[in-house]
Amino acid sequence: MFLRRIELSGFKSFADRTELEFVRGITAVVGPNGSGKSNISDGIRWVLGEQSAKSLRGGKMEDVIFAGSDARRAVNYGEVSLTLDNTSQSLPLDFNEVTVTRRVHRNGDSEYLINKQPCRLKDITELFMDTGIGKEAYSIIGQGRIEEILSTKSEDRRGIFEEASGIVKYKSRKREAEKKLSDTEQNLLRIHDLVSELE
Ligand code: ATP
Repeated sequence: MFLRRIELSGFKSFADRTELEFVRGITAVVGPNGSGKSNISDGIRWVLGEQSAKSLRGGKMEDVIFAGSDARRAVNYGEVSLTLDNTSQSLPLDFNEVTVTRRVHRNGDSEYLINKQPCRLKDITELFMDTGIGKEAYSIIGQGRIEEILSTKSEDRRGIFEEASGIVKYKSRKREAEKKLSDTEQNLLRIHDLVSELE
């Protein structure tokens, strides 16, 4: 599986629709300081579900929308689409290409799409779980991230190995199942109370 294409529109410095095509092998993006290189990797993490404006180098989520320049007016929404080659069927979808899209409007409304079909953020997170592509995954190594990984607590480091070994999905499902179990136990207790009150 590899990244085929990224399209940015109204996202950070990319006021106009900008499309970058990738081919197999190594691609280097070069450009002067402040020309928007890091905004591309921010776009990738954002479309994969990054929810922290700070880690996208902004104060609030609205800061990802093109804010205008001397020559251009600000736009009302920002959008990024990421297209992955899925001929190996690494993603559990019956398509050779999978496009995930995220759009945010100035009023705060957000939209997520998989192959142009509206979905929830959770669907995108689950789609990429254990593939090494998620927003927290090791496929995107930001500046300072290697140092951070080396100096982090051993439990946190373990998370990286868990993602790489493909068990995060099961851990997440286990957590959900445990929560349902605990909610059901609470409901049962409540029912017992009601039954004893009626007896
Ligand atoms: P460096 O080589 O210095 O790391 P870079 O090429 O990675 O630079 P970025 O950090 O990606 O550059 O881009 C910074 C530019 O993006 C700045 O000029 C900033 O004004 C612009 N920018 C960021 N957010 C927005 C926004 N919401 N609207 C308009 N421009 C923005």
